[in-house]
Amino acid sequence: MKKIIVKDKLNRPLRDLRISVFDRCNFRCQYCMPADQFGPDFKFLPKSALLTYEEIERLAKIFVSLGVKKIRLTGGEPLLRKDLPVLVEKLSCINGLEDLGLTTNGVLLPKLASKLKEAGLKRVNISLDSLDDELFGKINGRGIGTAPVLEGIEAAEKAGLGVKINMVVKKGLNDLEIIPMAKFCKDNGLELRFIEYMDVGSTNGWKMDDVVTKKEIFHMLQEHFELEPLDAAYFGEVAKHYRYKDTNIKVGFITSVSESFCSCCTRVRLSANGQIYTCLFNGNGHDIRNFMRNGASDEEIAERISSIWNHRDDRYSDERTAETDNNRKKIEMSYIGG
Ligand code: SAM
Repeated sequence: MKKIIVKDKLNRPLRDLRISVFDRCNFRCQYCMPADQFGPDFKFLPKSALLTYEEIERLAKIFVSLGVKKIRLTGGEPLLRKDLPVLVEKLSCINGLEDLGLTTNGVLLPKLASKLKEAGLKRVNISLDSLDDELFGKINGRGIGTAPVLEGIEAAEKAGLGVKINMVVKKGLNDLEIIPMAKFCKDNGLELRFIEYMDVGSTNGWKMDDVVTKKEIFHMLQEHFELEPLDAAYFGEVAKHYRYKDTNIKVGFITSVSESFCSCCTRVRLSANGQIYTCLFNGNGHDIRNFMRNGASDEEIAERISSIWNHRDDRYSDERTAETDNNRKKIEMSYIGG
C-alpha cells in the first residue's frame, strides 16, 4: 500500500499501535480487573465479536501504511488467545514494521516463549508487582504466587526474547516492594519500569492519593543505588530512563500521572472487538470492525483511520487533576491493554 504520514490536531504523528487481542485474563489485578467487578457472571466478548487474526493482520498493514512502526500485542491476557504465534507470524512479516512486542503476565510463557520467538516476536514486557508471594497473590486477585511469573521470565530469556519488567506501584499496597524489585531486576540484568497507578477504566476506584509518583520512587532508589539519567531513545518514548552507574542495566518510569507525556503521544489502540481508541482514557471508540465486515476496501479503511487520527486532540493526562471526575465513563484497560 502507498505510504502516507498522518498527523493529529496537535501535530503528533501516528507511530505505535497497541492491539488488544483478548478481553479475558487469568489474573484479577485489583488496579485493572478487580474480582468483584469481573466475577463469574461477567459477560466477556463472544468469539464472533473478536477480530479474527486475518482481520487484525489486514488492519495492521493499513496502520503501517499510515506511519505505524511499532506494534505491541496486549489484552486482557494476550497469551490466552488460542494460537497466538499464528498472529505473531502474520504481523512479523509486514513490510515496514520495525518492532513487534507483547505485554503479558508471563504465566504462559514457559509454554509459548520459543514458539513466539520463532514466529518473529522480538520483545516481551512482563508484569510483576511484588516478589512477596502472599502480596502478589492478593494483588493478582487469584492467590497466584510469583513462581509461574519468574518461570515465565526465565523462559522468555532462554528463548532469546528481549525482556522488560513492568511494576505498577500503588500507595500502601506494594510501595515496600520497590527496593526489593529494583535489587532483583538489577541482580538479574533486567530492565524494570515503574508505572504510576493510573485512572484507567472506572472500576478500580482510583484516587490521586494512591499514586506513588516517579519523584517519590526515584528518591527511594537513590538511597540504595547511584543512577545516571539517559536521553530519550526516540520521539514519543514513554518511559524516562536511568542507568545504574557502571552498568548497562536500565530502570525506567512511566509517569503518565505526575509528568504527563501527551504532547509526544503517538499511540493508537485497537480493542479486541475492533474499536479504535486514540487515548487510553477515552470513553468511546471508533468502530472499524463493522465497517470492514460490511465490505470497506483497504483504501476506505485507511481513509477512515486517517480521518480519526486527523481529528484527534486528546491530552487527558495533561488535563487530569485530583478532582477529575473518576466516574466519567472510560474504557476498561482489559479492553484496550496497557
Ligand atoms: N495481562 C497483561 C499483563 O498483565 O501485562 C497485559 C494487559 S495489562 C492491562 C498491561 C499493563 O497495564 C500491565 O503492565 C499492567 O500492570 C498495566 N496496568 C493495568 N492497569 C493499570 C493501572 N490502573 N495503572 C497503571 N498500569 C496499569
